[in-house]
Amino acid sequence: MADDIPFNNSFDITHGVADQISPLVRRIVAPNASPFTFKGTCTYIVGRGEVAVIDPGPMNDDHLDAIRYELRDEKITHILVTHTHNDHSPGARVLAAETGAPTYAYGPHVTPPAESDQPNLDAANDREFDPAHHMEHGDIIETGDWSFECVHTPGHTANHMAFSFREENALFSGDHVMAWATSVIAPPDGNMTAYMASLSLLTERKDRLYWPGHGGPVSNPNPFVRAFITHRKMRERAIFERIEKGDRTVEAIVDKVYRGLSERLVFAARLSALAHIQDLAERGRIIAEQAEDQTIYLPIR
Ligand SMILES: [Zn+2]
Repeated sequence: MADDIPFNNSFDITHGVADQISPLVRRIVAPNASPFTFKGTCTYIVGRGEVAVIDPGPMNDDHLDAIRYELRDEKITHILVTHTHNDHSPGARVLAAETGAPTYAYGPHVTPPAESDQPNLDAANDREFDPAHHMEHGDIIETGDWSFECVHTPGHTANHMAFSFREENALFSGDHVMAWATSVIAPPDGNMTAYMASLSLLTERKDRLYWPGHGGPVSNPNPFVRAFITHRKMRERAIFERIEKGDRTVEAIVDKVYRGLSERLVFAARLSALAHIQDLAERGRIIAEQAEDQTIYLPIR
């Protein structure tokens, strides 16, 4: 993977057990470990007595039971959701129905499924979630004891929202920025142009640390985010060079740019390359054409 980004893979957790990770924040990791989710989805509990739950996670009884058990003597007053992927939002419907707590998010999943021959991750999308409160960038979610600022960060999904926990100057960064790996940008809902703009947006902020949707905290956010930007720009340059040199399809480009990948990683690399290619097309550097049954890409000179 990228050796120009200072990843941190240390993440010592027990599934189903709440860890107190800051004065006001607890974390329970769902037992949905996978190559895309690391050790599982992080569900965060903010506050004491009356609490907010961020990303209740997948539809998983063991995980929902762990949240219920941890909060057996407390009250959920807010449910915040960073984005509509199946490992983040489905549990929100269950908790909201049980507790009556309203849900807060940017909005439902809106992008239609991919229709083309291109690789996609449509199966990852939760199309049923629709929050009670549709939040916009800069909106504040406030209770008596604590508050969140909504930070719209599209790219990983169109509706991705990060939440800045103002009392601890910490950003719940969802899947936008994580310490353990780069974010998957899977078109059509994933969008590289938006993702790069959302990275830039974070470099203008002064969050002390990030609590991501998977893995441990990002403890030095600004240089870390800048390393992601540099990494993606290098990748983009490599992809553009292949198109200039005559590679015309996503498959051909990935073969050259990402050498020696396992089959599983080739799929992820094709998604990522496609996202870069669409970004290059959107910015007028290349053009997409339909040739027989496949899409080909040509440089604009
Ligand atoms: Zn996600």
